Amino acid sequence: MTRLSAFSAPGRFWRGNLHTHSTRSDGVLDPAEVCRRYRAEGYDFLALTDHFVGLWGYPIVDTVPFRTEGFTTILGAELHSGAMENGELWHILAVGLPPDFAPSDTPDFRPHAAQETGAQIAARAVAAGAFVAIAHPQWSGLTMGDGRALADIAHAVEIYNHGCAMGCDRPDGFILADQLLTEGHDLTLIATDDAHFSEPDHFGGWTMVKAEENDPAALLAALKRGDFYSSTGPELRDVRIENGALVVECSAAVSIIAIGWGTGAKAVHGHSLTRGEVPLERLNNSPWVRAAVIDAAGKRAWSNPIWTGATAPNPRV
Ligand SMILES: [Zn+2]
Ligand SMILES: [Zn+2]
Repeated sequence: MTRLSAFSAPGRFWRGNLHTHSTRSDGVLDPAEVCRRYRAEGYDFLALTDHFVGLWGYPIVDTVPFRTEGFTTILGAELHSGAMENGELWHILAVGLPPDFAPSDTPDFRPHAAQETGAQIAARAVAAGAFVAIAHPQWSGLTMGDGRALADIAHAVEIYNHGCAMGCDRPDGFILADQLLTEGHDLTLIATDDAHFSEPDHFGGWTMVKAEENDPAALLAALKRGDFYSSTGPELRDVRIENGALVVECSAAVSIIAIGWGTGAKAVHGHSLTRGEVPLERLNNSPWVRAAVIDAAGKRAWSNPIWTGATAPNPRV
């Protein structure tokens, strides 16, 4: 039996948004009001991640004053340096940055040749202690070449971005993430808001982090270990592989799905399902398997991948 660590680690799940903007870059609300709204909506923690560009003075906003009983914050930024293969500037999420993280040479949103590459600034953020994620792959138009450049540096891929869902109907990062997993890159999967409060881009996608305390250091360590799942609504209570099936326990759902490499996927459907066993034969001996759950309102939750130990996918049939 192989169980995801999020469901065996001690502690409880804390709900947080890892990607948020304020008036310190191009968001509409000031940092205090952004924190107030997330706290009022029942979130346990928030990372304010304003755009780290010269235009706004390379902000790493001090959100410590907005921590209250039952609500904490993690310092961070959305980093920008170097061109993606399409010639546009990289967007890289960094949660858990020190306040004195050295500025990049990024005066605005146009890349230039003298900058650090995306991979270089991502590596610098990891070295400084951050949890780093490849932001909104579908909105950015990331190629596999872009993904490979960061895949062994970043911890995670942003697989759902609520702002991109509402603002451009390109919310997801699954194609990139699944193909990078199939190539063997050890990545986890986060859902975020990327809230600017300029459109209905808030309270739509979040990460549930398992930790013993709602404390920035404990949350950051849990994120790096992969002790979390992502959601737009449903709760996941257990995800494990047992007797050749993916076993999922969750809040009431209509579909429980096992997903693997290539065309490998299998769903079970029902009414008010709180447990599902999805046989894995159809997943073609995938080296990784992840769970998705869909509820009656169409809201979804996603586990991190379970590495199965299979070393080579079977030939396609
Ligand atoms: Zn972005
Ligand atoms: Zn953003």
